Amino acid sequence: MTLETTRPETLAIHGGSWRADPVTGAVAVPIYQSTSFQFQDTAHADRLFGLEEIGHIYTRVSNPTQEALETRLAALEGGAAALVVASGQAASAFSVLNLAEAGDNVVVSTDLYGGTWNLFAATLKRFGIEARFVDPADPENFRGASDERTKAYYAETLPNPKLQVFPIREVAEIGRRLGIPLIVDNTAAPLTVRPLEHGAAVVVYSATKYLGGHGTTIGGAIIDGGNFPWEEHAARFPQLNAPDPSYQNRIWVELARPLGPIAYVLRIRTTLLRDIGTALTPFAAFQFIQGLETLPLRIAQHNHNAVKVADFLSDHPKVERVIFPGLQGGEAGRRATTYLQGGFGALVGFELKDGREAGRRFIDALRLFYHVANIGDVRSLAIHPSSTTHSQLTAEEQFAAGVTPGYVRLSIGIEHPDDILADLRQALE
Ligand code: PLP
Repeated sequence: MTLETTRPETLAIHGGSWRADPVTGAVAVPIYQSTSFQFQDTAHADRLFGLEEIGHIYTRVSNPTQEALETRLAALEGGAAALVVASGQAASAFSVLNLAEAGDNVVVSTDLYGGTWNLFAATLKRFGIEARFVDPADPENFRGASDERTKAYYAETLPNPKLQVFPIREVAEIGRRLGIPLIVDNTAAPLTVRPLEHGAAVVVYSATKYLGGHGTTIGGAIIDGGNFPWEEHAARFPQLNAPDPSYQNRIWVELARPLGPIAYVLRIRTTLLRDIGTALTPFAAFQFIQGLETLPLRIAQHNHNAVKVADFLSDHPKVERVIFPGLQGGEAGRRATTYLQGGFGALVGFELKDGREAGRRFIDALRLFYHVANIGDVRSLAIHPSSTTHSQLTAEEQFAAGVTPGYVRLSIGIEHPDDILADLRQALE
């Protein structure tokens, strides 16, 4: 069944290729806990390996439970195709490794999750891929750092701890003029921001957060917007435009043509995932399908509660300042209202007035909030970023990134807002 709708409430439940199990009629997507899938005959095996026919071979590369999740995610995001992998980190790494090799560079926003910062600044650097970090406050910084070896721009929509929305359209347009795709990590704002509509070429997620939503499962996703003209930039992207010796000397843009504009994500599946093997288990894929079905409802409640928390903290005498997209003025405020729909996300940062250790003392006094290194759970969560997500930075770098001793980051859950506020009130007292 092809759905005509673009409404997320419906797509979260019906979007993608799944309708029911063709043999048993099961409606909920089963956990296809099988490593491999039987070929009809040797000719069928040849067709599957040659991508003349699409079908499942081996669960490291594809599986029916993963496929139901992937097609639903692509439908929800408005993309051409998706790939799910074992973690958000694997998704970020593959999104870049699919385009960049030793000697290449990527222009990267300085406003990043600490784990992604490490991926670029340490691990990809050792692979010979240079990350050129630029301040996203001025989109022109991306143009200034680009050259003919620049293979992608990389940024987060709603990065911690500044919580200033990334100028997606502005940077995507610069990239499109130069032939450089924008990859956006939309982990913190699914449905609230739709990066592909603003010109991003690829969206990545830590599905661990809002997509799963219940704090049970680690996973990641890459969504191919199908909107970047790889063939027009053949010299920059030989990976997609030149014969691939690891795949029968086939050319990915040509191989993908009968399947749709999905060369980018098809290559990740059939080369990087095949060779490196960070596959999502069918059980984990099932968990994310369950999560997705209530995503629109949860996001609405997360966003609603976060506005109440930001307002409450803004009026509290012990709070120095609140960091929340809905409260920003100037250019940051303009971007927040341009890009965010139906709310401002559910991450709230704030700075306590009172002394050096106030942030830690506040967190230790919370009762309903959990103190964990996570976001996007149905439960409300709190953390002092210097202890974890920004621990790779020196004290001065943390201060420059907005992580001061009085700083607290909250990930607002979907409990009743009055109970969330009551816990904040008692901890502040
Ligand atoms: N991107 C962002 C914005 C994150 O917050 C995280 C995890 O905290 C990741 C990526 C990495 O995801 P995972 O923990 O699923 O590997």
